[in-house]
This record gives sequence, C-alpha cells and structure tokens, in this order.
Amino acid sequence: MDLNHYFNQKIVTQPARPYLGLSQAGDECDRRLWLYQQERAITKREARIFETGKILEGMILRELKEIFVIRNRQKEIVIDEKIKGHVDAIGYLRDDPQKINYLIEIKTMNYRRFSELVKGLVPKEYVAQMNVYMYALKLKSGFLVALNKDTSELYLTQLQLDEMSAQIHINRLKQIVASTQEPERLSIRGLPHTICQWCAFKDHCWG
Ligand code: SF4
Repeated sequence: MDLNHYFNQKIVTQPARPYLGLSQAGDECDRRLWLYQQERAITKREARIFETGKILEGMILRELKEIFVIRNRQKEIVIDEKIKGHVDAIGYLRDDPQKINYLIEIKTMNYRRFSELVKGLVPKEYVAQMNVYMYALKLKSGFLVALNKDTSELYLTQLQLDEMSAQIHINRLKQIVASTQEPERLSIRGLPHTICQWCAFKDHCWG
C-alpha cells in the first residue's frame, strides 16, 4: 500500500448535505459546487485542512475575545432550503459604545498567501464568502482574521459590504442548485484548470 497516497489522496465521502454551503460562494468551478450537492467527496488531505482550521479557529477566537465581545458563534444563515451557511462569529469591539456588530471570519494561510494579504490582496473567495454572509446578516462590515501557519502571525483586515457582488454570488448559487445538468468542466484551452490538480473530483472530470 502507498501510505502517502492513502493519507493524502484517499477519498472520504461525507454524508450528503441537503444544501450548498455559502462558504463556497467564491469557488470558481460551477461544476464542483454542483457536484458537492450530489456527494460530498473530499480527499483525506482536504478533510485534514478543514479539521485543522476548526481547531485553530477556537484558539484564535480566545485571543479575539480580548478585543471583541463575541455575540454569536456558528450562526446559521439560510438563503433558502438549498443554500445555507454558518459564520465563524459576530461581535463588536469592547471599546465601542455603539456596539456595532461585525462579521468575524477566521482563516489560516501559508506564508505566501498571508504575505499577499498583508499587502492588501484579499483572496477573492474570502471576499465572496464574507460578502454573502454580511449581506444575509445585514452587517455593513467584517473582519477577516488570518493566521500565518508558518509563523503564527495574526493579521486582521476589515472588509466593507459590497451588496451588488453579494447578490451576484447568491444568484449564481441559485442557478447552480437549480441546474439539472452537470455544469461544464473548468478548463484552460481544453486542459484541466490549475485548481483541478487538488480537486477531489479530478478523476470524475478528467480521469
Ligand atoms: S476537477 Fe476541475 S472541473 Fe472538475 S469539479 Fe474539480 S475544479 Fe471543477
């Protein structure tokens, strides 16, 4: 048995969710979003990324409570019965007399991504996710809290709601869940897109 293949590429099929997760609003591939509804197939490597993120999220939230009053964790957002999501947290700054609520989303990143974020390049999938959350919760602003997995540095950046972008993303998700046919593969000149390389559906699409 190839142990490295087993611990990284083995497919873990999670119970099908009867809805599409809003956290995936920024996923470039319509087909992957559509397939996620049929079967939540991910590799062991991807499952580990998710679990690591959840563990680190709790650790970072403990620190954030020094500055924020956390009002809500894992609040559910329901766009309709087919599109739902859960936010990391909602909270306000302890020194704010108006107690304005912010969306708080926590992400872990590698050194390269983190460095880009510090320079102002917020990953577009996080912008999309936070926009749809803020839109659904009627929040005007949110904090993306990033942990550099290589150095443990923390970086907070504030995002403002872009209503039009949120509506576009939500409409796209609605079209995908309503589709009875598998959307086209994401490709570059007929060849697999770079994001296909680590996708759990690679064999399904290109095998
Ligand atoms: S392998 Fe590529 S085309 Fe297929 S679902 Fe994944 S990202 Fe989309």
